[in-house]
Amino acid sequence: MAQIVDVAIIGAGPYGLSLAAHLAAAGIEFRIFGSPMHTWRSSMPEGMVLKSEGNASNLWDPAKELTLARYSADNGLQYRDSGYPIPLSTFINYGIAFQQRFVPGLEERLVHQVIPTRHGFDLLLEDGEIARARRLIVAAGIRAYEYLPPQLASLPTELASHSARHVKVDSFRGREVAIIGGGASAINLAALLHQNDATVTLVVRKDQIDYCGPPAERSLWEKMREPENGLGTGWRSWACCAMPDVFHAMPEAFRLMVVRKHLPAAPGWTLKPQVDGIVSTLMGASIGRADAVGGRVRLALDRAGGERTILTADHVIAATGYRVDMQRLSFFGSAVLDRLDCVQHTPRLTRHFESSIPGLYFVGTAAANSFGPMLRFAYGAGFTSRRVAGHLKRVLNPERARGKAAGGWSNANLAGT
Ligand SMILES: Cc1cc2nc3c(=O)[nH]c(=O)nc-3n(C[C@H](O)[C@H](O)[C@H](O)COP(=O)(O)OP(=O)(O)OC[C@H]3O[C@@H](n4cnc5c(N)ncnc54)[C@H](O)[C@@H]3O)c2cc1C
Repeated sequence: MAQIVDVAIIGAGPYGLSLAAHLAAAGIEFRIFGSPMHTWRSSMPEGMVLKSEGNASNLWDPAKELTLARYSADNGLQYRDSGYPIPLSTFINYGIAFQQRFVPGLEERLVHQVIPTRHGFDLLLEDGEIARARRLIVAAGIRAYEYLPPQLASLPTELASHSARHVKVDSFRGREVAIIGGGASAINLAALLHQNDATVTLVVRKDQIDYCGPPAERSLWEKMREPENGLGTGWRSWACCAMPDVFHAMPEAFRLMVVRKHLPAAPGWTLKPQVDGIVSTLMGASIGRADAVGGRVRLALDRAGGERTILTADHVIAATGYRVDMQRLSFFGSAVLDRLDCVQHTPRLTRHFESSIPGLYFVGTAAANSFGPMLRFAYGAGFTSRRVAGHLKRVLNPERARGKAAGGWSNANLAGT
């Protein structure tokens, strides 16, 4: 019978890896599953630069020994705390270096199923092994939550796809592509496709594209009026970074509203000169319907005043983001989902990130409705790791001490309970 470990983590992105580094430093026994930095390697366009500034793009070890600044200095890479866009490739390599140093025991296997048991959780791995743990932390990121507008859902994949499916875009050379969306993913892809000789039309629902402003020298007054923080500038973002516990204590309706409205996925300032006035753009347009016609896609776009514009293309890419929904985590069945208390499809969490199922925790984007927009960014992994590791250290030590007093439990002889 497999040994039962104290903690299992699903996911090896910034949250899973940072948490693992903290658990290791706290002497907590754990296993972690997933491919390192997989979302960043497999769902973001090659050549992208990060939107977060250098000092907000760290993975977190407790002693802050391997920040992005340290990694860049060690490897002769350009770095500034702000004002220098971090290349995606640098961030991926940094994440992998972090994993190799702090989480060498990462098991690069997918978890196919989570089964609640008397001892905690059984995890069915892709190779058939069952891993057993008392507590489970889900750090599975955003990939499961790709959102495709219903009008596009019935089109074949040759004609319509989600932006997360496009790391390389050279197959679109010489083709006509419509991109739906005005956020970071849409603008990133528009720039990249244009540079790769595709004919791009951006379809944006709003009347303008709101780029993040470039960092600039700011006066003391400006700094006081709009303080810098891990999410950019401004008091609202500052409060989200400095007081996640206060956010957690706020009424639920308020929290949901803030997470929905604050910090939409705006494109970075570096993209503006690559897209503005260069890529053909239809503002104030949304999809009315979409049909496959003669091997192409025909989009009927609704405009202001009841007007309709028809756009045909070889392919349409929905850069329409992600919607967190526990039902879409394929490793959960009804044994978990029926007991999981959710609001708007996201788990309700305690101050320690624990869900309504004892021993089951969620971190990252899935925790944003509880702790605020910071949790949608790598920056939030610092607070999360400290909080969850501190909590587990407190709860696991007394459990272990009680176990010893009752006759010296060990992981091995707990097996099968
Ligand atoms: C285009 C784009 C640009 C972005 N730019 C930024 C930015 O500049 N700065 C920023 O902070 N954030 C950015 N984000 C948001 C970013 O996705 C999150 O900050 C970050 O990924 C959160 O880390 P995570 O560890 O929660 O999730 P992820 O990085 O998504 O990692 C999740 C991990 O879980 C693993 N996993 C999932 N399911 C399983 C399973 N069944 N078994 C085993 N492993 C599993 C995955 O393989 C992956 O390794 C961007 C997002 C997009 C889409």
